[in-house]
Order: sequence, then C-alpha cells, then structure tokens
Amino acid sequence: MKFYVKKLSVVLLLLALLLSFQSYVFSGVPRVKYVIVMIADGAGLAHLGSAYYLNRLLLEQEFFITERLFNLGRLGIVANYALNSLVPDSASSGTAIATGKKTNNNMVSMLPDGTPVKTVMEKAIELGYKTGLIAKSTITDATPAVFASHVPHRSLQDQIAVQYLEKRIDVILGGGKSYWIPKSISGSARKDERDLISEARELGYTVVSNLGELESVKTGKVLGLFSSGNMPYRLDADPTVIPSLKEMTEKAIELLYKDSKGFFLMVEGSRVDHASHNNDIASVIAELREFDEAVKVAFDFYNKHPRETLLIVTADHDNGGLSITTSYDTSGKGRYPTVEDLNKIFLVPFSFERAKSVVDKEGIEKLFSEHYVGELTIPQEWIERLKSDKPITPSLTSPFYASLGAGFSAVYMTAWATNDHTATPVWVVSLGPGSYRLGGFIDQTEIGKTIFRMLGEIK
Ligand SMILES: [Zn+2]
Repeated sequence: MKFYVKKLSVVLLLLALLLSFQSYVFSGVPRVKYVIVMIADGAGLAHLGSAYYLNRLLLEQEFFITERLFNLGRLGIVANYALNSLVPDSASSGTAIATGKKTNNNMVSMLPDGTPVKTVMEKAIELGYKTGLIAKSTITDATPAVFASHVPHRSLQDQIAVQYLEKRIDVILGGGKSYWIPKSISGSARKDERDLISEARELGYTVVSNLGELESVKTGKVLGLFSSGNMPYRLDADPTVIPSLKEMTEKAIELLYKDSKGFFLMVEGSRVDHASHNNDIASVIAELREFDEAVKVAFDFYNKHPRETLLIVTADHDNGGLSITTSYDTSGKGRYPTVEDLNKIFLVPFSFERAKSVVDKEGIEKLFSEHYVGELTIPQEWIERLKSDKPITPSLTSPFYASLGAGFSAVYMTAWATNDHTATPVWVVSLGPGSYRLGGFIDQTEIGKTIFRMLGEIK
C-alpha cells in the first residue's frame, strides 16, 4: 500500500510539473532570460577534429567544444540545405537559425518571395531584452545580419548597418567600418552620404576602434568597428590592438547583463569560413582555437545561470570538404599524418591571405624569415599561383600542393574537396532549457523554432 501511495505521489508530481510547464509555454511567458548563440562559420566536424588533435595531441590542452561541451550538452546533427540549393550559404543557413524558416541562398531573413520573417532577436527586443552581435567578418555580413535585418541580398551591407541602428542593437562588435562611413570619405563602401558613426553617437552609443577603448567601456550601448573590412585573422592580428573573440564576448556579456531583464547575444567565429575558402588549415585551426576560448566564456556564464540560459554552439554549414587523410609528398609517396605534421601547422605564423598580399618571392620570404624558424623553400609555382589570383586547386598528388608543407597551409594531413561550401550536415551542441529539442538528427530550422519557443512564442 505504502508503495502505491509513493508511486501515486510521483505520478501526481510529474503531472503537476507537466501542466505548469505547458502553461508556461502556452501563456507566452519566456522560459529563458539569456540566449547565447555561437556560430563557427563553415566549421564541419573535420575542422573541429583538426583543432582537437592539435590541442590534445600536440599542446596537451583541452579543446573545450569537443572534450567538454559535447559531453555536457545535447549533441545534434543538423541538415541545413537551402530552398534553392542543397549547398547552403551563411544567409540561408543563418536565416534558418534566426527565424526557424528556410529560404534561398543570399537572402537575409526573408522568404524567397521577399516577405520578411521575424527573427529570434526581434522577439528578444519585444520582451525588453538587450541584444548583441559579435563577428570577426564585417559586422554587417550575412551571419550577424540574419538576426537583426531583412534584405533580399546579403551584399546590401550598407542597408543592414542602418537596420542595426534602427533596432538599437546594444552591443555591435566586429569589422566593416567601411559600411558605416559616408560615400565621399575614402574607404567607404556606402552608396549614400549617411555617417552612421555620428548617428550612432547621437543615439547614445560609445564608438570604439581598438582593444583599449573597448576595455574602457563600462556601461551603455557600444559600437566597435575594429577594421575597415573583415577583422584580421588571429594569426595576423596584433593582440594588443585587435580584441580577440574571447575579449569581445566577455565585454558583451558584461554590458548586456548589467541592469537588464535578459539578453540575446550572437557570437560568430566568422573567419573559419574564410580560411576554409582559402583551404588554409593553419588559420582554420587558429580561428577555431580562438572561438573555443570565447565558448568557454559563454559556458562560464551559463554555469552561473543554468536554469535561465540557453546556450547554443553550432556551425551554419561545412566548408571545403576538409579531410584528415593520407597525403603525398613531392615524389608521390603516400603516408598517414602524424603529430609532427600538427607541429608544422602550429608553427605557421600567418594566414594565406596575408601571404597573398605579398605576392613576390622576396616579400613572402621576408614574412617567413620574420616569423618562422625552419627550413624554407618556396617553389616558383606557388608564387605564380598567388600572383594569378586563382584559388589553390586542391589535388593530393600535386607537387605544388605538397610543397606548401614547407611551412604554410596545406601541410601533410589535410585534403580539401573544394574551395566552396558543402552540403554535409553539421553539428549543434546546446545547454539549458529547450536544449532537449536539439538532440539527434534535426533540421536547422529547429534551432530557430526552439529559441522562439523558449522566448515564449510557439512556431
Ligand atoms: Zn563561406
């Protein structure tokens, strides 16, 4: 008898919990106060694996995302095709995350017919939450744009910047100053004479352009534009001037948390994607290691507010079809990669993009000699390719490709299928209320729908 009473009380308790949960959701009451979405743009599992191997096997350090987060959170595999292509771009895949709706490539939070779709960040604004966008690309590039703007094509970055100010996004940190200054000023990418930096100041934003200025902001809205175009790759950045993704995330959380009802923050490790377009494995790993540090900061916040925080870390799409596999030396002899090969990658001192900006042999040799201690032979073919502006066409048996192993990008152990995005499903890991919905094999739109639901709106 006692046993049955116990059992009955457990059933009643569960029923009560279920009912209160249902009324919570259906009454439109938000279930979370803090939402942090972190996107490693273009980072497939092989990208994560490469960064994990380097940290774990070479440096004997933790790679937090795979070693901790994947075990602590709910892990999902994500189908992310666009409506007009199996291969998505950051606009269509970002729109799925930000709105819970699929669209065509290049479209920013709009349906293919041009109808704007409400975003989860707009929902957060409705609730009176503060908002923040951080990216290492131009801050008006597709991934941040999908959360706080609606345009038919991602290239309309000058319009996207205007929409950020109209929405009064509290924290805006990234690259792309060129989209905020009037057309007549040299270096502007605007099509009109609007001076959005002055307009931001009038709206009460503190405008900053380097790490020191960012650190000194203690309250209020902030617009940080740290470069004219994309922020420099971590390998190329002066860390005393250019804030890291971790430093930007720390400051954003500090400002957004202060005196607020709640906040929505999106952080993008944008340049994993750019490095992948260049098949630049050294920068892929460096950018992911930087992203990993920012994820730790967000996780620390989650850990302090686990019942009120939804933390989602994901990739919007894969890029490059990266593979860690057999590779071939100049004589055509194949072998498997080793830890020594990881060391070669780790010693690469700058990005492919920076090397490309110095296309003569002497300039590249100077770059190497300034930063790189090791044997160096730069084949003439490499110089010719850099000059020709052709992408590096990956071919495992190409002596050109293998010779880059002299100290640059395509060191033994990696092969790339393409310089473009792929349709390979990606990963998502999440913690906090609602994360149970994001396990297993899901469509990318579930991410947006789940955030809406946890903010009290059923989609
Ligand atoms: Zn891309």
